[in-house]
Amino acid sequence: MQNTYRNIATLPSVDILVIGAGSSGCMAALSAAESSGYLVMLVERYGFPGGSSTQMLDTFYGFFTPGDSPRKIVGGLPDLVVNELDGLGEIFLRPNTYGAGAGVNYNPERLKNVWDSLILRSGIRYLLHTTLIDVNPLTDGRYECIFWNKSGLSQVTASRVIDASGDADFCHLAGFAYETAGEKEPAQSMTTTFRMANVDLEAYEKAGGKKILKELMQATAEPLPRKEGSAHAMNVKSCISTVAVKVAGLNALNVEDLTKAETEGRKQAFVFEKFFQKEVPGYADAKIIGLSNQIGVRETRRVYGEHRLTKSECMAASIPDSSIFLCGAPIEDHREGKNGESETHWEYIPGSGVYGVPYGTIVPEKSQTVWMVGRCFSATHDAHASCRSMAQTMAMGQAAGLAAVQSLSREEAASVIDIKVLRNSLYKASAVLEMPGNPAKTGAEEWKHNFM
Ligand SMILES: Cc1cc2nc3c(=O)[nH]c(=O)nc-3n(C[C@H](O)[C@H](O)[C@H](O)COP(=O)(O)OP(=O)(O)OC[C@H]3O[C@@H](n4cnc5c(N)ncnc54)[C@H](O)[C@@H]3O)c2cc1C
Repeated sequence: MQNTYRNIATLPSVDILVIGAGSSGCMAALSAAESSGYLVMLVERYGFPGGSSTQMLDTFYGFFTPGDSPRKIVGGLPDLVVNELDGLGEIFLRPNTYGAGAGVNYNPERLKNVWDSLILRSGIRYLLHTTLIDVNPLTDGRYECIFWNKSGLSQVTASRVIDASGDADFCHLAGFAYETAGEKEPAQSMTTTFRMANVDLEAYEKAGGKKILKELMQATAEPLPRKEGSAHAMNVKSCISTVAVKVAGLNALNVEDLTKAETEGRKQAFVFEKFFQKEVPGYADAKIIGLSNQIGVRETRRVYGEHRLTKSECMAASIPDSSIFLCGAPIEDHREGKNGESETHWEYIPGSGVYGVPYGTIVPEKSQTVWMVGRCFSATHDAHASCRSMAQTMAMGQAAGLAAVQSLSREEAASVIDIKVLRNSLYKASAVLEMPGNPAKTGAEEWKHNFM
């Protein structure tokens, strides 16, 4: 089908097109470019890369399993990002007290710069401020993709496409089937994150830190929308970052709802600010200095893939031969609780605490030339709630980049690719595909050593 746009520029065709420069998209583009001479293009609707990793967050989870004997279960290109940040003195390890295991805390502003440099270094054609708005499937398996940016409308023909838009915009426009979160089960809530400066962290820790914060949240008369959440030290002195706001029951694919969510998220952030200033030791003079660039969206479209990851597969803690990366994060489901109370439901992976994620979860059903990575990969609601930390989304990106290269070089359709060959490429790229025998070390220096 030909498009009917007037005044549209035709850009040179590309071999591999990646839509969205979030953690999964940056990694997919880097992985494809680093392992081939193919022309790779990466487009991003905002003016900076990173998606959630830089729009609102500051901690990579999912590199390590939770618990007393943590294993490092993601490696390869995602390590490169951490190493770059480490080389700049921009990371520290957040201890494994609860939740998804030890986190790698970074300065998100520096991460934008690190993603930029890695992308530019690898010769990727990189367009910021560029939004995918339409797709024409061609009869030979290629796709004509239509973009809008300040230069106007443009179109690019791509032989292979990796949808890393988070919301599966490409798959939606190209006609692939998906489930929209909220249709069958409640969608996970949305969160505006915020950062506060001028916090006396010493006074806060002396008063009881996290423990006292939890008690104060439960006891306060302030109308907190959620009586739990994390407020953790940042990479910048006297600053904290929070994941506390909770906006539930709205559809992030509906612009009226999304507008409500943004305004509600900002309102809630200042309710939290007042609570912190009035009641939490060390926060009397603290103020919000930054809200997330947009409200954090946990799930929208989950594309139906050649394989659909389910909760029972996660809980079986097995690593099938078709695995392309590992996950040890618990199910962390942010739901709307009873009587308007919010709650987060946690369920840990039993046994070895680790499961393998099959290749088919990043391939839309019957796809010849398309992959989807990151939070729109193929999983049920609860499996998705486990397998969405950024180490995993980066690992998916790495695998999809290599798969797209393999598909081009060996003329293999996405859905029937030789997985043994792909896994071999992943091994060579230092990806972790088997449960590591040895526990990861716990001292900061030794943790760092793991990234080398
Ligand atoms: C509130 C919240 C807290 C979280 N906390 C953590 C945490 O602490 N640690 C952790 O590891 N994980 C956390 N997660 C999960 C994790 O952040 C996400 O699962 C992960 O970042 C998703 O990565 P992604 O690449 O799939 O999508 P995104 O990061 O959303 O990237 C998608 C990119 O595509 C771009 N895009 C979208 N549509 C288009 C289009 N049409 N055209 C061009 N570009 C487009 C977007 O601008 C964006 O840059 C959290 C998630 C949320 C929402």
